[in-house]
Parts: sequence; structure tokens; C-alpha cells
Amino acid sequence: MTGMELLLLGTAAAEGWPAPFCRCVNCEEARRRGGPNIRMRSGALIDDDLKIDYGADTVVQMQRSGRSLANLRTLVFTHQHSDHIIPQELWWVIPPFTQTPPASPITVCGNAQVLELVRQDLGNRPEVIKQLDLRLLECMCPLTMPGGDTLLPLPADHIENAFVLRITRSAARGGKTLFYGHDSGLYPEATLEALAKGPALDIALFDCTNGGLKTENRGHMGVDGVVKMAAELRRRGAATAQTRLIATHFSHNGGLLHEELVGAFLPHGIDVAFDGMTVRV
Ligand SMILES: [Zn+2]
Ligand SMILES: [Zn+2]
Ligand SMILES: [Zn+2]
Repeated sequence: MTGMELLLLGTAAAEGWPAPFCRCVNCEEARRRGGPNIRMRSGALIDDDLKIDYGADTVVQMQRSGRSLANLRTLVFTHQHSDHIIPQELWWVIPPFTQTPPASPITVCGNAQVLELVRQDLGNRPEVIKQLDLRLLECMCPLTMPGGDTLLPLPADHIENAFVLRITRSAARGGKTLFYGHDSGLYPEATLEALAKGPALDIALFDCTNGGLKTENRGHMGVDGVVKMAAELRRRGAATAQTRLIATHFSHNGGLLHEELVGAFLPHGIDVAFDGMTVRV
């Protein structure tokens, strides 16, 4: 295999869009239009062996995509917010919840808070913990997975110890590089510098929680913040003409539905994610 396939399983912020308790105009319009305007909580699958985040919508996402996690080797968490991690659901990795459990433990990477949540929720289930090889992610410390993929956790502008990730697939897997840039506001200088020094990105994902709102782009970004960060990555050589630039992690409070987001990003060469979007590089 020489290429990389990224499947975006969910593309919403924490409450989903439409949000369960909300009848704002943007939730009502999403219900009316349907299609790409129906967004589950964020998460992604790379090929069939590497997953980023494991939120509450994961079961239904695997069902809807017709895919499984039976070949999962690595699970990486960006941060400890509940739309990105729900440790109890990792219980399904052992029999009788699966009849095809992994032959060897899944490597599970996360910051100290994430690993603490996993231990808290599954600590009384040693048979589950045994199937998870827990690895601590530390800021700016690259970690090589048993299969040869490299993870570089970079500082995010979000909550304490949240990371954005640069993931480079093993040479055997084609060596493609992904920047998983959410959840975050405008990227800290250290993150931009590290990306500039590394391999050119094949795919870059950006946080667009705030949509069309004009904000300071702290904690999360809107369209203007994403455009700014995409330009910054291009200027520093981390993104090239070949890099697929994609905005994701949208909220109803951002005000722009899918079709309007597509229009806003079109002049900037940035794609708008939707649930089930597949990107091959
Ligand atoms: Zn989030
Ligand atoms: Zn709403
Ligand atoms: Zn978050």
C-alpha cells in the first residue's frame, strides 16, 4: 500500500449538529436540508488500522460507514473533552462483545488526563486494560508506533495539555503525513515551527467550530482563522499546492451551513468536511 485513506467519521463540535436540545435557526435548517448538514461528533479512521479519537458516536459511525475496527492497531486521542473520548466504550474490544478480538493489544496514546480517564473507567476491568497498550503523549516528543508510524503531539490553543497531531505513516505504508489540527484556536508558534521543519503535509485538517463568526480565534477557530492558518502553513512550506486542506469540527453556533461553508472556503482552496468524507492521497 502506497497511499493513505482518511475517513472523516464525524465533523461536528461537542453537541453535534443539529444539537439534541436546540431549535435555533441553524439546527432547524440542518434538519430541513439534511445530507452533509447532519454532523456527528468528530473522529477519523486512517486506512483500517489507525483511529483518531473515540467519541460517543463511534458505534453508529462504524455502522453507517460499513467499516469495522477489527484491524485497529493504534488509537490516538487529541484531548480529554467528552466528544473525543468515552473510555467505557472501549470495553467492546473483548469477548463476548467481539468474536474477533485483536491478536495483540491496541496501542492507545493520549495525554496524562486521557490515560487517567481510561484507567478510571476501565481500571476494574483488567481483561480490557490488557488489550490496551497505554502510551503517554508528551508535548513535542515524537512517538514511534510498533508498526512504524510516527506521532508528533504539538501544542494546541484549547484546554490544558490538548494536542494537535502530526502523523506520518510508516515507509511500508507509503510515508504520507497528516496534520490533525483540531481542537485548537490559532496555532501556537511552536506548532507552526515544528510543522515547517517536518515533511510537507499531504492532508491538513483545521478547527472551524466558530464558522462565520468573527472571533479572536482562541480555543477554536472560525473561517477567518482557518484561512489565516492555511496561509501560514503555505508560507512556511508545510503546506504545498498538493496538500489537501480541510476545515472540520463545525458548530450550529457558527451560523454557516455546509453549502455556505463551501462557498466561503472555495476561493481559498480549502475543502469543507462532512460525515463520511473520504480523502485519498
Ligand atoms: Zn471537540
Ligand atoms: Zn442549534
Ligand atoms: Zn475540545
